[in-house]
Amino acid sequence: MSLLSLDTVTASYGATQALFGVGFDVAEGEVVALMGRNGMGKTTTVKAICGMVRAGGSLMFDGMPLAGRPSHRIARLGIGLVPEGRRVFRDLSVEENLRAAARPGDWTLQRLADLFPRLGERRGQRAASLSGGEQQMLAIGRALMTNPRLLILDEATEGLAPIVRQEIWAALTGLKRDGGLTILIVDKGLRELARVADRAVILERGRDVWTGDFDALSPEIAVRHLGV
Ligand code: ATP
Repeated sequence: MSLLSLDTVTASYGATQALFGVGFDVAEGEVVALMGRNGMGKTTTVKAICGMVRAGGSLMFDGMPLAGRPSHRIARLGIGLVPEGRRVFRDLSVEENLRAAARPGDWTLQRLADLFPRLGERRGQRAASLSGGEQQMLAIGRALMTNPRLLILDEATEGLAPIVRQEIWAALTGLKRDGGLTILIVDKGLRELARVADRAVILERGRDVWTGDFDALSPEIAVRHLGV
């Protein structure tokens, strides 16, 4: 059974409709890349799943409907979101940020420090004093500390220095290999996604236009739907 299942999902911002019918499934243990050019509806799809924008159609998580649930309840069902733009509590320390997010499960401060050694080294430091890349690691760490069944990453490596991007991709590759975590990932890095993604879903103007194994995403499809 799919852990996450979307069918003909629609969503609007006031009078502006952003999603016109998005459908895809994410199976337990799978890494799915949600792709598309700018403004095609990726973030809105993530917001619809997380209860941050009102959505129509069917959104199911582990057999339960998500529609109408407030976002904190959706988080408690086991969906950990790393939102666009690295949201962390700037005035709290690294450790305080992580402890504030923690829920029971396999993820602990120690396991996180193994994944991102920089966070372990900076445990007592204020989040505001971290580099952008370290803040992004902390944002990922906060989501992992909730011990989610589904991790959603929205542009997790956008705007970061290449070296830090590599560290984050290496961590995600490790999560897939060792943890068997189910991940929905929005990113534009085709080459990096190829290392972790099992499947891809491509959105165009608020609709899913291509779904398939990541390996089947040919250069022709990338040119046609992603413009790369
Ligand atoms: P990007 O890669 O640029 O982040 P995206 O694929 O994530 O793009 P969305 O952010 O989901 O796209 O945007 C989908 C559509 O909804 C776009 O036309 C966008 O202009 C519109 N939109 C997004 N947020 C809002 C908002 N708060 N108010 C009104 N329209 C919005």
